[in-house]
Amino acid sequence: MNVLVVNAGSSSLKYQLFDTTAGVVRAKGLCERIGIDGKIKHQNLETGAVYEKEIAMPNHTVATKIVIDALLSAEYGSVKSMDEIEAVGHRIVHGGAYFSESVLLTDEVLAKLELCRDLAPLHTGAHIMGIQGCLAAMPKTPQVLVFDTAFHTASMPDYAYVYPVSYDMYEKYAVRRYGAHGTSHRYVSGECIKLLGGKAEGTKIVTCHLGNGSSISAVKDGKVIDTSMGFTPLEGIIMGSRCGSIDPAIVPFIMEKENIPASEMGNFMNKQCGLLGVSEVSSDLRDVMAAVRAGNKQAKLAYDILCYGIKKYIGSYAAAMNGLDCVVFTAGIGENTPEVRAGALEEMDYLGIRIDPEKNANVKKLPAPCDISADGSRVRVYVIPTNEELVIASDTEKLVSAL
Ligand code: ADP
Repeated sequence: MNVLVVNAGSSSLKYQLFDTTAGVVRAKGLCERIGIDGKIKHQNLETGAVYEKEIAMPNHTVATKIVIDALLSAEYGSVKSMDEIEAVGHRIVHGGAYFSESVLLTDEVLAKLELCRDLAPLHTGAHIMGIQGCLAAMPKTPQVLVFDTAFHTASMPDYAYVYPVSYDMYEKYAVRRYGAHGTSHRYVSGECIKLLGGKAEGTKIVTCHLGNGSSISAVKDGKVIDTSMGFTPLEGIIMGSRCGSIDPAIVPFIMEKENIPASEMGNFMNKQCGLLGVSEVSSDLRDVMAAVRAGNKQAKLAYDILCYGIKKYIGSYAAAMNGLDCVVFTAGIGENTPEVRAGALEEMDYLGIRIDPEKNANVKKLPAPCDISADGSRVRVYVIPTNEELVIASDTEKLVSAL
């Protein structure tokens, strides 16, 4: 089945055209600066043809039409007619408590998605524009929504997702833990279970999705029992520019001292803290690591906070699951930064975790997924490249095939 996977951001639209039967990506691309001016970069991965153009994109409907024109192009396109695109799968950041699995788009589903706006205003608005863009351009093509929160909300127990604030905050405003990156945690834990023999029952896995935003999940029997991101993606370990978990009393304290209004405090915690705020170098770990190597003390501190944070989550999730079989690293930092994997897992032998320094240093030269555990390590440690788009394409195929 030819499935178009769409990831609509506030001013961007990323897409991939999958042939799910052959298991290949046929084309991919990115529309940027939607609503500002507009630019597309499209790649036909079968022929290698690339198309790049600055072109007016006042909204997502126009951007979707431009994507379809690119896919239909005789020169660099992949299909002869729109009918060849049999389904569209959308990445949706927040499904609230309404969606704990992927769903086919209906009017009722769209109405429920509207109710998630409050929880992730920028993302949900962009997703709805992306969906409407596809509906306008391909009115007869079935569409599927795949939620980043669903893998978490499907199985987390209430004592892991209810915050110890007054219960009416949960009842009135749905203040609870939702988590994020669920599609990635689902993919890499699924791949890990395959490596363990294919049976989910009895497995205890900690998945570390470490990117610009980072989250760590405890996956027991193939299901999430806890995850580090919370009501919003601000909770958890230190991130590129997000502070992660801090004493909540720090928030009103800083607001008062620095005279920061509530409207700006969120921006401060999301954009000016984390690796950037501590190192005062960059939110990008590559720059931070370069500064560490050059002897910058604050950069070293940011790196130490990151490794220590990951270690604490792994330890607490091993406690939550009553054991640990595997630790999985994925995403930009998890897949590419041996110093973080080594730093986080240093002196974890009491838990049965020992990595092979040679393998850890050479992950990029070894075939993926890569087992970096030392011989005799009771816990397996894997580096597994994530593939959220593949999960979206296969969920879409499954739901549309059943129509
Ligand atoms: P996002 O959360 O925006 O999807 P990524 O998963 O791409 O982000 O992760 C971004 C982080 O990963 C940055 O801190 C960056 O330094 C690091 N990173 C990404 N790619 C690489 C790479 N090839 N080598 C080293 N670090 C990388």
